[in-house]
Amino acid sequence: MSLRNLFDVGPEELRAFVAGLGAPRFCAEQVLHWIYRRRADRFGAMANVPASVRRALQAEYRFGVLALLERQQSGRDLTTKFLLGLPEGDGIEAVFMRDRDRVTGCLSVQAGCPLACRFCATGYAGFTRNLSAGEIVEQLHIIARTLDPPTHVVYMGMGEPLLNVAAVMDSIRRLTDPAAFGLSPRRITVSTAGIVPGIERLATLERPVNLALSLHAPNDALRAELMPINRQYPLDRVIPALKRYLRETGRRITLEYIMIAGCNMEAAHAAELAAIARENAARINLVAFNPVRESGLRTPSAEEEGAFRDRLRALGADAMIRFRRGRDINAACGQLRGRRLETRSEPDRTARRR
Ligand code: SF4
Repeated sequence: MSLRNLFDVGPEELRAFVAGLGAPRFCAEQVLHWIYRRRADRFGAMANVPASVRRALQAEYRFGVLALLERQQSGRDLTTKFLLGLPEGDGIEAVFMRDRDRVTGCLSVQAGCPLACRFCATGYAGFTRNLSAGEIVEQLHIIARTLDPPTHVVYMGMGEPLLNVAAVMDSIRRLTDPAAFGLSPRRITVSTAGIVPGIERLATLERPVNLALSLHAPNDALRAELMPINRQYPLDRVIPALKRYLRETGRRITLEYIMIAGCNMEAAHAAELAAIARENAARINLVAFNPVRESGLRTPSAEEEGAFRDRLRALGADAMIRFRRGRDINAACGQLRGRRLETRSEPDRTARRR
């Protein structure tokens, strides 16, 4: 029988397991402390936990399932990207970003992604499977024990979070549990391409988190060209879902917008985008397109980026340009995994494409 991933087990279940061994209650708290505060990477490190309890834990659980395959640090801004191996051999990515006191962990939710957005390297490499809540939580544990514990978490790595909404919600519960990572939900942001039923389900989370919509085009025609999911969930379904989320949770919405030269940065696009932002009291996060070889799309110049932002501001929108982090380390979502897949045999890669 294969062992369960320790990170798939919540604090309550661990407490029950330790209590079932006949150990005193504080012993379970010690175990949790070692996992989440001391960021141990094996049961053997839990020095003040009785050996009998450590042995029982080891017989029941596996201390994580992800293998650290590769770690790249940007020479420019200390952004660090982790390529992590799943038990069956595929890879996922997690990213560490530091901005003064703010340390952000960017987590993946799927191995690959089925949504095939035109500007995204993950979309080109195909979809393998959803991650479990434990595999999501473990990414944060690896970042925290290798570098520093993140103060903020964004679900903006590989995959669409709201196509794996049950595991994402479970992982958020673990991230916000005071006995685990203990993060404030206000410091957690889930980014979606606009999966309407998922937005509705996420709103039911006991402690709601921030929501970001990966908008990237301000009208259905262009958005469907860049993001095929827009055919299933067009803007006249997504925007009302955002409004409901806002109403039910009181959280602020962010619109993510990748600037692509000659594509979505015309004056008319700025007018449409500013109108959506104003109507939803949303902030616009602009980020320049990070080159993806297969896409045929072009990165704007710094002047084009600044002009687009200024146009939005002149139209009354709250817009800012997010610094492109880790450009020297394949930091666009999915590029590190894509490179790994390229080293596999061609028939294997072809089988992965949808
Ligand atoms: S941008 Fe996000 S939703 Fe689109 S293919 Fe990439 S990972 Fe999937």
